[in-house]
Amino acid sequence: TSARKRRYDIAVIAGDGIGLEVVPAALRCLELVALRHEFTLDLTEYPWGSAYFQAHGAMMPTTGLDELAKHDAIFLGAVGVPEIPDVETLWGLLIPIRRTFDQYINLRPVRTLPGIPARVVGAGDVDLVIVRENVEGEYSAVGGRIYVGEPHEAAMQEAVFTRRGVARAARFAAELATTRSNRLTSATKSNGIVHTMPFWDEVVADTLAGYPGVSVDKVLIDALAAKLVLDPAGFDVIVASNLFGDILSDLAGAIAGSIGVAPSGNLNPEKKHPSMFEPVHGSAPDIAGQGVANPVGQLWAGAMMLEHLGEPAAAADLTAAFEACLADGLRTRDLGGTASTAEFTDGVAARLTA
Ligand code: ATP
Ligand code: MG
Repeated sequence: TSARKRRYDIAVIAGDGIGLEVVPAALRCLELVALRHEFTLDLTEYPWGSAYFQAHGAMMPTTGLDELAKHDAIFLGAVGVPEIPDVETLWGLLIPIRRTFDQYINLRPVRTLPGIPARVVGAGDVDLVIVRENVEGEYSAVGGRIYVGEPHEAAMQEAVFTRRGVARAARFAAELATTRSNRLTSATKSNGIVHTMPFWDEVVADTLAGYPGVSVDKVLIDALAAKLVLDPAGFDVIVASNLFGDILSDLAGAIAGSIGVAPSGNLNPEKKHPSMFEPVHGSAPDIAGQGVANPVGQLWAGAMMLEHLGEPAAAADLTAAFEACLADGLRTRDLGGTASTAEFTDGVAARLTA
């Protein structure tokens, strides 16, 4: 047999809870699809997350980021357990990874899958992508409190938007729009937030001037949230700031179906640093260890990773395999079915070896 020439170094962080169940499930399918498309995935597993935190007082070792930097991509399950505050998982692992590797785009495709009707009656077939700016904006650490404990105590937090930061998010969204329907919606709030949001609008408009084929619709975030609920099929690519994108992603995901199927990519589009792919859901402590977690979100995240690595045919194959299982009525409990994680994964694996 010919040597598999294309190889990709993948850092795997299964994390906690159902991450420990859906990550191995997805890896099994990823390896099968790699075999089929004749490339190699070199997997290195890192046992970081809450167990590591309980033993060492940190989510990952101090050399963690240097370790991850050596890889082509990071495949993440879910981190966090109820006993550890979310702020530790966020600032101890997720945010340092996003910022160090300049993963300035958070990409969240939202699509109705076969056999999973949208939650909104009459929503039609939803097929949209949310492009969230992922490293600046409202999630800044600039601010603080004054007059602590006094009746006039106050807290302030600055949002920081840079021309470069907004422009590169807008550019990514515009490029994506050209591969889809050339329609872009930009989330704003320039009527109420008078400094940063007019700046966002201005830089988006300047950037989009370079894409005469792409139409851009500027919509206030409140109206956009309402429209998204009423007519999700009316959207294609949505570009939004860090906070607005965060909120819209969960909203759109909820409309399209189950939290267990939604994926996301934290991208460094230039591939100077590894990008990170993960399901949208958390560690789901309520069902962890029962073998019933839906592996679709993790599988779809795997497909996004393959796409990013430059293996679109393999990505399409993997996507088609889990979609076919869903279309056949193979469903985990969260989708009203009875299949276990292993049974669903067996179904996907069978399609990838057929
Ligand atoms: P986060 O960890 O992001 O703060 P969370 O703890 O609020 O999120 P999740 O861990 O995503 O939320 O769980 C929310 C609910 O969705 C739980 O009831 C969980 O069982 C369910 N759920 C999440 N992911 C899956 C999955 N892959 N399969 C089945 N059910 C899931
Ligand atoms: Mg959680």
